[in-house]
Amino acid sequence: MRLLNARSLFVPAFLGLAVSAGAMRPGASLPSEPGRPSTPIVIDPGHGGDDEGAIVRGIQEKDLALIFAKKLKARLMRDPEQAVILTREDDRYVRLDERLVDSVDASGSIFVSLHLNQVKGKKAAGAIVYSYGPEKLRAWRKKRHPSVAPMPAPPKVQSGASANLAYALSKGLRADGFRAEASKSDYYVLKNPASPSVLIELGYLNNPDEAAKLVDPAYQDRMVESLARSLEQFAATRGVVSKL
Ligand SMILES: [Zn+2]
Repeated sequence: MRLLNARSLFVPAFLGLAVSAGAMRPGASLPSEPGRPSTPIVIDPGHGGDDEGAIVRGIQEKDLALIFAKKLKARLMRDPEQAVILTREDDRYVRLDERLVDSVDASGSIFVSLHLNQVKGKKAAGAIVYSYGPEKLRAWRKKRHPSVAPMPAPPKVQSGASANLAYALSKGLRADGFRAEASKSDYYVLKNPASPSVLIELGYLNNPDEAAKLVDPAYQDRMVESLARSLEQFAATRGVVSKL
């Protein structure tokens, strides 16, 4: 698979890499010599533009996902060596396949899609960190993007890395006092061929108590801090051996 757009041409320069985008194979790791750029982290704020995602009592998933994504980027970039790419910086629709472009070009990157959940009722609570796999709760599945061609499942080795990342992020959230679990889904972006890829449902907008927390800047900061620490730890140990 080859995905390219004008934006992706800037990625190698941004990362300070001496190779062109075309010379990098999807799925290949960056060289492991000391001093190489740290593992790039691609953050994907879900939805955008006409695709609002969930809307509950005036809170739009697309807006909240962007707020969390920008905070996570700012937090991760406190390390000047850390490359962070957002798939959208503002309220615009980006096709699902285009969201994967930067991470495919920045081979060896970590891909994190951020969403907010909505189900019936008011009681469901907590974050879910998905990696690729057979979905457990098919009834929840929503085919929101029928126009995008289906993609094959990722190689098993990358599913394993994604599952490790989902496990690390959910474990980190629990350690920091959040309710969180790791799970499997076959969402399109989780089939990203280049990266360990996860999709995080940060919480439930249909739960009034949780929605109130999710729009609270202090709560956002705490959650972002937890996610950032887990991502930094994962990025630092990638390419060695996963001991998760
Ligand atoms: Zn969503």
